Amino acid sequence: MRQPLIAGNWKMYKTSQEACDYIKALHEISWNEGVDVAIIPPFTCLSVFNNARDWSRLAYGAQNMFWAKEGAFTGEISPLMLLDLGCKYVLIGHSERRQIIKESDSMINNKLKLALETGLIPILCVGETLEERESGNAQEVVGRQIRLGLQGVTPHPEMVIAYEPVWAIGTGVTATASDAQQMIRFIRDIIKEEWSLEKSEQVRILYGGSVKPANIGEIMSQDDIDGALVGGASLDPEVFAAIINF
Ligand code: PEP
Repeated sequence: MRQPLIAGNWKMYKTSQEACDYIKALHEISWNEGVDVAIIPPFTCLSVFNNARDWSRLAYGAQNMFWAKEGAFTGEISPLMLLDLGCKYVLIGHSERRQIIKESDSMINNKLKLALETGLIPILCVGETLEERESGNAQEVVGRQIRLGLQGVTPHPEMVIAYEPVWAIGTGVTATASDAQQMIRFIRDIIKEEWSLEKSEQVRILYGGSVKPANIGEIMSQDDIDGALVGGASLDPEVFAAIINF
């Protein structure tokens, strides 16, 4: 059985004081025990999560990492630095990085390999644009992102994938639960081809794109959807708790 994972991506929001207040507020709210919960804050808030580790049940991770352990890479962050701050997860290839920072599939593949080699759990993000969906190319695009992302990667069932259609991120428009299920089943089938049936049944695949308390129940009722990557709705601890307690 795959344990559900609900991860909140804060993007470029919150100072360390706001992170501290949030962790305390979420701590006061009871959660569904059968769900893994993680926050993916900006780098500058990671030490706040690290300092709260003794009493907070929250796992956490980073929104990005570099594909080398150390070196002359000004402005970049090594996976070893993330591990040093207690990170469990790292987002790889979020669509905002693919589109705005122009991250390529080969950069993403290098990051994914190093994340796994160093012991971080990568959350590999994939998803098609509206134009790609409307032209009937959604599966081709997502299939290519998965295959190129996984090229040369040793099968690792702890790895997480997030299917996030770009047109549903931050727009208030959600994919229908059955469209999300269909794409996520397609992704699982590719992992079966690339790795094995057993591994494909172990990998958690999340849906992301305007998830909120009102739609999480239907999303989680789909056979292949193992959780959610939540952006905007993770910024308020009460709203996020309502999603965790779907
Ligand atoms: C995201 O940032 O990964 C995301 C899904 O954002 P939102 O929930 O705001 O659409």
